[in-house]
Amino acid sequence: MLGLMMQTPLRIAALLEHAAKWHADTEIVSRNTEGGLHRYTYHHAHLRAQQLANALAALGIGPGDRVATLAWNNHRHFELYYAVSGMGAVCHTINPRLFADQLLFIINDAQDRLLFFDLTFLPLVEKLAPHCPQVEHWVLMTDRAHLPAATALPSLLCYEDLLAAQAAAYEWPVFDEYTASSLCYTSGTTDQPKGVLYSHRSTLLHSYAASLPDCFNCSSRDVVLPVVPMFHVNAWGIPYMVPLNGCKLVLPGPGLDAASLYELFEQEGVTFSAGVPTIWFGLLQYMREGQRQFGTLRRMIVGGAACPPALLQAFADELHVEIRHAWGMTETSPLGTVSTLKSKHLALPAEEQQALRNKQGRVIFGVDMKIVDDQGQELPHDGVAFGDLLVRGPFIVGDYFHAAQPGQLTQNGWFRTGDVATIDADGFMQITDRSKDVIKSGGEWISSIALENLAVAHPAVAEAAVIGVPHPKWSERPLLLVVRKPGQDVSAAELLRFYEGKVAPWWVPNAVEFVDQLPHTATGKLLKTQLRQDFAGYKL
Ligand code: AMP
Repeated sequence: MLGLMMQTPLRIAALLEHAAKWHADTEIVSRNTEGGLHRYTYHHAHLRAQQLANALAALGIGPGDRVATLAWNNHRHFELYYAVSGMGAVCHTINPRLFADQLLFIINDAQDRLLFFDLTFLPLVEKLAPHCPQVEHWVLMTDRAHLPAATALPSLLCYEDLLAAQAAAYEWPVFDEYTASSLCYTSGTTDQPKGVLYSHRSTLLHSYAASLPDCFNCSSRDVVLPVVPMFHVNAWGIPYMVPLNGCKLVLPGPGLDAASLYELFEQEGVTFSAGVPTIWFGLLQYMREGQRQFGTLRRMIVGGAACPPALLQAFADELHVEIRHAWGMTETSPLGTVSTLKSKHLALPAEEQQALRNKQGRVIFGVDMKIVDDQGQELPHDGVAFGDLLVRGPFIVGDYFHAAQPGQLTQNGWFRTGDVATIDADGFMQITDRSKDVIKSGGEWISSIALENLAVAHPAVAEAAVIGVPHPKWSERPLLLVVRKPGQDVSAAELLRFYEGKVAPWWVPNAVEFVDQLPHTATGKLLKTQLRQDFAGYKL
């Protein structure tokens, strides 16, 4: 027997319609790529998204067509999120930090028909264009005054001109909630990037999940500034979560340095923000240098890479911000777990509470997880056993876009994340490594993340990476690679002594090498494949 409730498909356009109707005068503030701030309301954003949908239709875009963006977090990008998906096309956000050959692969694999881009990326787009035959128009996200005098692009259109030519009345179509809405490619450190194709349903369910108290906990009284880019996993779903809750939205544009962020935080009364550890490290240093404090910022999310405990502690103790550690991936929309305490933990001593906050945290509703050994047997939730992390749920990938062998990605309905983790009795998951990065010493596993976290807690260390290098007896042993802070001169022996009493003696790295910098992926993660190549012949 079916239920008798209305059959209203979940659609992305409904989020913006809701905000335009019920939070009409709530603001969206955006730092323009051209300079200066742009300020309008959900009411106006909705009108412009409708104009844009009309413009897309006039350019021949129809259901399922891919429309790409290469853009910062700004109001035009926000309009594209809603206009493209809202009309039934697929909003394909591209990470401009990827290498040119990856970008070409992605644009051609997605078969993007239009590509919208910010002024910053004009030189990049001019290089890509000759190799992207199926892109019919390149649309510069600016006004007529900022169009380049000359360009090599075959068909350049102006965003504001497109909108100006259209009426602001558009009836958002109603379609199946499983319809594709947006497309993101994984960063692909080893293989070619893989496309994750989200649906309206998965996006809406993820937006509800993101809003929950133990997740982002955002309400209509919040002012939200996503530092995490809209070109990387939909800025962790924030552009969808904010209209659902009627939050004021502040979009930082290209200015992601600490001073620019702090200025916006203070000026716009930001209460909530989200970003990767690197960004928060930079901000912490800036706050310390100027002995600054936040006027309104109360909560932050950190994720995308393991967050060193020292950073979590500093934000809480020195800046009085509740900082939540979260884990996720492009394939999980991306929110999977967030580290928030249960009520029984509030009675624990401060260090034990902090030890829980340092973990990647508990699942949000909509995500189920387990850890398994090499034979696929489920491992206990004792906080000690670690194995491959598997997840499932309505906003977890079922198959990659254009998969060579469809239907093979999941096993018995579970997606293998490629991460290795523990889960404790209260359900707190802790990532110990990417499965490719674990160090296997004499048949036992050593967590490179744990060793890196300890190294960066040393006052002389700016950044650290730990990789496994061949060893005649143990097959692999850890090598610590360190970037020292400017003017600091710590020795290898002192760094190794720093591990004493903090980890099992056999975990302590065998050697330390000092480097000027460490390689990173386009999304800011340590590029360990390259480090392993660079140190392939290393003799311990
Ligand atoms: P991406 O799809 O580019 O967002 O990368 C996802 C991967 O980033 C995950 O599979 C993890 O390996 C890593 N990651 C994300 N968040 C965390 C975290 N809080 N701690 C450790 N690793 C993380």
